[in-house]
Amino acid sequence: MIKFWNKRAKLGVITEKPELEESLKKIRKEIKESVKKHFAGSLAIRMVDSGSCNACEAECNALSNPYFDLERLGIYFVASPRHADVMLLSGVMTFNMTPHVKEAYAQIPSPKWVISVGDCPMMQAPYERTYAINAPVTEHLQVTHHIAGCPPNPLEIMEGLLEFLRKI
Ligand code: SF4
Repeated sequence: MIKFWNKRAKLGVITEKPELEESLKKIRKEIKESVKKHFAGSLAIRMVDSGSCNACEAECNALSNPYFDLERLGIYFVASPRHADVMLLSGVMTFNMTPHVKEAYAQIPSPKWVISVGDCPMMQAPYERTYAINAPVTEHLQVTHHIAGCPPNPLEIMEGLLEFLRKI
């Protein structure tokens, strides 16, 4: 078995996906140019989870790995909303998180934007309106762009970020 995987690795079969590489190349180029044009080469994102199952966060985390490497394109995830340009909101909006999401949004300096990621914030995912859910997010914040999926994969998130950059 080890021999088999070594052979595949040598041939580059495990990591090489020509179609994915091709679309990534195009997306990377356009994102880099747009970030340079609209955000002087540095776009800071504060991710906020308003009640997710964590799968959307896992996909967003993958954007920082050496393969997708969003930082190379000038997009950074930051720890404070005060350092952010954009709020990336995941998860269904819960009553408990609503004031914290609004507070985080208030602390982002203007001009600022909200991008929702995953079907939850728009109430298109598995959750239903219950006593704990205060959704969709559009009842509380103005969302500039929505990235659909449950969860969207890293490439779809990158495409979504690019669509957002095209909009502004
Ligand atoms: S959209 Fe799907 S994957 Fe993302 S937080 Fe909601 S349930 Fe989880």
